[in-house]
Amino acid sequence: MPSIFTRIIRGEIPSHRVYEDPAVVAFLDIAPLSRGHVLVVPVEEREQLHELSAESAAALGRALPIVARAVLAATGANAYNILQNNGALAHQAVPHVHFHIIPKYEAGLGLGIEWSATAIDAPAAAELAARIRERIGE
Ligand code: 5GP
Repeated sequence: MPSIFTRIIRGEIPSHRVYEDPAVVAFLDIAPLSRGHVLVVPVEEREQLHELSAESAAALGRALPIVARAVLAATGANAYNILQNNGALAHQAVPHVHFHIIPKYEAGLGLGIEWSATAIDAPAAAELAARIRERIGE
């Protein structure tokens, strides 16, 4: 079953498209958190970011600033959040990788962030960083 975003990319479901290249499509979010809330989606259908091919990931990296510049220019916003959720626990509702570009016009509107920072434990952090370094490239 194609994802709802694949169906949008194919033009089977209408959307307000703002950008496309061979690997990436961007369109307005149907339920925007703020004016100009855009979704940037790889044509490659993968559920989570780490599953993407290097080609798709590179295309997204190229497209994101291009689309963000256009959103800022068109809306007059000069602050924005990029949000990318992976997994239902992390608030992902649509199982096809997507980046949100969410303009921020004033405090309290747009994306709300609860940032429950904790203190880092230095010995545990050194051990964890070493473990992650060992897994890079898998
Ligand atoms: P997630 O929580 O998965 O990161 O966000 C999914 C986003 O997709 C939501 O902001 C939601 O409003 C948007 N969305 C879901 N279905 C559609 C649709 O059919 N069209 C558009 N344009 N956006 C959609």
